[in-house]
Amino acid sequence: MQPDFSEGALVSVLTTQPIDRMLDYRAPEGGCDLGALVEVPLGPRKVLGVVWGAGQGNYDLAKVRAITRLHDAPPLRDEMRRFLEKVADYTLSPLHQMLRMTVRAPQLDEATRLIYRATGQTPDRMTPARQAVLSVMADFSGLAFTLGELAEAAGVTPSVIKGMVKAGALAEEVAPRDLPFPRLDPAHPSKTLTEDQADAAAKLRQSVASGQYGTTLLKGVTGSGKTEVYLEAVAEALRQGRQALVLLPEIALSGEFLRRVEERFGARPAEWHSGITMTERRRVWKMIGTGDAQVVVGARSALFLPFQDLGLVVVDEEHDGSYKQGDGVLYNARDMAVLRASLNGGHVVLASATPSLETWANADSGKYARIDLHSRFGVAVMPDMHAIDMRAEKLAGGHWISPTLQGAVLQRLQRGEQSLLFLNRRGFAPVTLCRACGQQVACEECDARMVEHRFLNRLVCHQCGAQRPVPDACPSCGVEGKMVPVGPGVERLEEEAKRTFPEARVVVLSSDLFGTARALKERIAEIADGGADIIIGTQIVAKGHNFPNLTLVGVIDADLGLQGSDLRAAEKTFQLMRQVAGRAGRAAAKGVALLQTYQPEHPVLRAILSGDDEGFWQAEADQRRAAGVPPYGRMAGIIISSPDLQAAFDIGNRLQRAADPLRARGIEVYGPAPAPIARVRGRHRVRLLVKAAKSVHLQAALAQWCALPLPPEMRLTIDIDPQSF
Ligand code: ADP
Ligand code: ZN
Repeated sequence: MQPDFSEGALVSVLTTQPIDRMLDYRAPEGGCDLGALVEVPLGPRKVLGVVWGAGQGNYDLAKVRAITRLHDAPPLRDEMRRFLEKVADYTLSPLHQMLRMTVRAPQLDEATRLIYRATGQTPDRMTPARQAVLSVMADFSGLAFTLGELAEAAGVTPSVIKGMVKAGALAEEVAPRDLPFPRLDPAHPSKTLTEDQADAAAKLRQSVASGQYGTTLLKGVTGSGKTEVYLEAVAEALRQGRQALVLLPEIALSGEFLRRVEERFGARPAEWHSGITMTERRRVWKMIGTGDAQVVVGARSALFLPFQDLGLVVVDEEHDGSYKQGDGVLYNARDMAVLRASLNGGHVVLASATPSLETWANADSGKYARIDLHSRFGVAVMPDMHAIDMRAEKLAGGHWISPTLQGAVLQRLQRGEQSLLFLNRRGFAPVTLCRACGQQVACEECDARMVEHRFLNRLVCHQCGAQRPVPDACPSCGVEGKMVPVGPGVERLEEEAKRTFPEARVVVLSSDLFGTARALKERIAEIADGGADIIIGTQIVAKGHNFPNLTLVGVIDADLGLQGSDLRAAEKTFQLMRQVAGRAGRAAAKGVALLQTYQPEHPVLRAILSGDDEGFWQAEADQRRAAGVPPYGRMAGIIISSPDLQAAFDIGNRLQRAADPLRARGIEVYGPAPAPIARVRGRHRVRLLVKAAKSVHLQAALAQWCALPLPPEMRLTIDIDPQSF
């Protein structure tokens, strides 16, 4: 096949370097393809890039340098390059930053692990370069080389070696440790689906088989078999010879999850998340590009892998906040999955028991299809939910487990069943206060209180991670022996549970108590096996773990998420409470969820308790529509950070004063005000919020408006679709 660009042709290359434009180079010996991964000279250095198109020719042509190396990786496909361009436009991020997210495997040639041996056959056409290769081979007879090694040893370009493979003088093989993934078999014997599940699976299979873009919301309570159903969509993608990606919010999920995929298809899928080794990373990257990795299970960043032919993306627990990347390119993987699929005729399945309002609204308006699974699988039924009105409970100071909840736990202990006490607060106590002066210990660098962790015997800032010993004397007034912990964290709740139920085995599940994801997984497996009577957990327990013997969930503070002015607070609390309650009664015994609250008549709590999901979303939707906020309007946050608060406000005010052209386009501008996290690591953060109707092209307006020169110590970040508003 002829390459897209023949040797010497002018091509335009996007590099991973922070330069705002493409650079022109000449195609190397043997030519190169559009999308090829290349090494190019940039000043004195050699950098990684991708051939993005034909050269612009706007330089002094005599000075254009040649591509120095073609990496041995499949070219980035057209739709992948379009995808990166669109995400860059949407998030207002430079394209080179997008490219860096895609080419995460740093030494590409090692990723490929192709090795070369001499065949003993002499090529018809002998050149000095080819001769050099053969003599290196002869010097190290019998040894296999990677492309990079051989090219370097012989002083030739890789294309010479590729040419010699074609000429039969060299054999190209896959190195043993880069063996392909075992094939996944869609026809492997699988579970018999219930009627409800089978209907849902049939609809999804049809959508995947159509080869057309589409998105489906798959809604069903935890335990209804959503996973079983979407694995049938994965099976269909496999039958079509296309690839499938399953995105999960937490690594903690993937151990159990990978086993389930293996059970369904008879082989393990590829994994992609921060926990895999560099060698595995290279292997997966390469195999995804060639199409040899058929199914990938991964974290949000897996969306940027260069799939050959992505036919299906499943976003499990699509409402989860961790799909939004918090630094660098501020994208939401759920939304970008939809974009990606629309570019390559793929299907998207958004699975959740408690969809985001965005997704619910898209299904409501008919933009997405919707499939509901109505009941839990087998004998399991949804737990009963009740409020415990804390105003009526007698509770001594320093105690958080109400008598009613105590009674319920005791009952479980007597029956040999497990209870979960949920409190979304890590550490021992959220506040450490001086009883002499009333001051709370705060982080010196952040706008955050220091949280006591008894386990570490230290105060920790949850914002920046700063630690210090628990002080004996007050840092503010210097009085000794007056520091007291105020309020509960999971460690303190553990103490209370152990005191109240001395016979019980109490276990805490909190992300900070485990050094590694593996340790956490082991502990979870132990608990599932019956290794605990009372589990005390933060939100990591809310996600996807199956504890079959768990029949009681006690929520220590159901009001926690409803404080503050965030318009998303109701949605988040609703989702979290539902998710946590769903942990109870996953096996035969019926579960109960008890929510301790001081405001049982709050509309959100009423919706949670009544089980009227649709009513809740309708009411939320009405409020958001009236306020003109997402999903019924567009929003963006402009965050200005600076070591100096006044300087940050100055810039914010300058933007506000320059906002008339935005207002003329129907865009409202609020602020500047301190950002939700007002100070981190010594940097002050000031935010403006921008709001517009859906029909307004926000990005174009923002890009112009925000392009103002800033001193080097200041930063301006644009956050499209912010998580809180
Ligand atoms: P969800 O993803 O909705 O939480 P899962 O797919 O994880 O639900 O199903 C919950 C549990 O029920 C899992 O252990 C699963 O293997 C089991 N299950 C669901 N449907 C079936 C079925 N048709 N046959 C056998 N087991 C099933
Ligand atoms: Zn801090």
